[in-house]
Amino acid sequence: MTTTLHHWIGGSSTPGDGQQTGPVFDPATGRESGRVAFASVGDVDRAVAVAKGAFAEWRETSLAERTRVLFRFREQLDSARDELAAVVSAEHGKTVDDALGEVQRGLEVVEFACGISQFLKGEHSSQVSRGVDIASIREPVGVVAGITPFNFPVMVPLWMAPIAIACGNAVVMKPSEKDPTASNRLAELWQSAGLPDGVCNVVHGDRVAVERLIEHPDVAALSFVGSTPVARAIHEGAARHGKRIQALGGAKNHMLVLPDADMDLAADAAVSAGYGSAGERCMAISVVVAVGNSAERLVPRIVERIDSLRVGPATDSNSEMGPLITREHREKVAGYIASGIDEGASILRDGSALVIPGHEDGFFVGPTLFDDVKPAMRIYREEIFGPVLSIVRTERFDEAAELVNANEFANGTAIFTNDGGAARRFQREVEVGMVGINVAIPVPMAHYSFGGWKNSLFGGNSIYGPEGVHFYTKPKVVTTRWGDPARRGVDLGFPRSD
Ligand code: NAD
Repeated sequence: MTTTLHHWIGGSSTPGDGQQTGPVFDPATGRESGRVAFASVGDVDRAVAVAKGAFAEWRETSLAERTRVLFRFREQLDSARDELAAVVSAEHGKTVDDALGEVQRGLEVVEFACGISQFLKGEHSSQVSRGVDIASIREPVGVVAGITPFNFPVMVPLWMAPIAIACGNAVVMKPSEKDPTASNRLAELWQSAGLPDGVCNVVHGDRVAVERLIEHPDVAALSFVGSTPVARAIHEGAARHGKRIQALGGAKNHMLVLPDADMDLAADAAVSAGYGSAGERCMAISVVVAVGNSAERLVPRIVERIDSLRVGPATDSNSEMGPLITREHREKVAGYIASGIDEGASILRDGSALVIPGHEDGFFVGPTLFDDVKPAMRIYREEIFGPVLSIVRTERFDEAAELVNANEFANGTAIFTNDGGAARRFQREVEVGMVGINVAIPVPMAHYSFGGWKNSLFGGNSIYGPEGVHFYTKPKVVTTRWGDPARRGVDLGFPRSD
């Protein structure tokens, strides 16, 4: 019997009144494994109303008590690692080990949020004018919405909710409808940690729910992570409604390999970052720029590594790479591979026809490698979000760096070299938000912040870390004067310090 996942509002599972549901698949078999409720406008309104009510209480809770809840949530999450990884793996298709990695990175954001009292310390200046003191404090913004993508069903919600909640806000999360179950499980863990009901809510669904969250007058801020077209539209919608918005979009991450690099290290990194999670990571490497004569030594090493990759269902503990998220996405990625061949790129490995015995209907695409890719080709210009790696060859470092800077996306990039001067120059000149030097996936630790530039981030607000605290709080500055009889009397002049 098919089960339907419901919304989580006010501390309990609720079917809502939306009539629509959507399918959730096991990507490895291609079979529908369950259904998920799609929220109506009324369901979203109920969740926001509950969050608004809970916010009034939660913002009054002491910082000490909020911190205790965060520590308890950290313990709950730590104990639930395996269970959450299994849920992610079943609905997303990534290997269990990969899913455990995302749980770990999400947990680190919770650990950062456990130290929230350090970040909410205001500033105070005494005697800024005679008898006058000034203090700045940061207050929660209110009800915050979090709209998240399919590719990290645990980590990305944890980029948002722990910091928003620690700062004293209430949240309404809207996870991807493709792998929604982990979000309800996280909400249950918050409840077990003692978070008051209504502070963390989850509504499921599609653009109906998202559009209502954007226009709802009681939603103060929106955090979005997903594809660039949706990020751009959500940013524009939020701005129209006068809301705080952080909208992280897609990517096309380049990895430069200079001739002096350790080629084995570079090949390991290119294959790990290109095909990990079947390329469905916003920090995946999708373009390797081989500078000078590096391609001659690099490409055979990449091919050799691809040929020993084990593709299969996550239920097989030998699998290193799983399927894609949906049948439609599988077809889209296969279409990109066909277009690369049509446009004249050299295909060195083609995974578009891969069939896994016993999983013939699974959404698998094998690791695919193109060489001699040119910037005009579709496989170069567009985000594929699959296990397709493109090699572009350039003569010089300058040309390689210019390619990166000319790209519309600017999420992450990396350089592999043993030349410190070249690495430093790249670090300074590259117009990308996150840069790795001999590190292919430079996802910042939780006490830094994550964010790209250009079409990889709209609204200018990076996510989690100190910038997350900034986003989920608004500043208030208080100027104080006590008992100064000499100051009596009307004075229409603009106040000046003395
Ligand atoms: P998506 O944009 O299709 O969906 C993201 C969220 O938006 C989901 O909750 C979805 O239900 C909702 N949504 C989809 N279409 C919508 C619409 N028209 N109006 C309103 N809401 C809509 O993204 P996805 O396919 O789930 O995730 C993959 C994308 O996310 C890739 O482009 C990837 O690069 C990007 N991503 C970026 C980051 C980052 O940090 N920059 C991190 C992870 C994923």
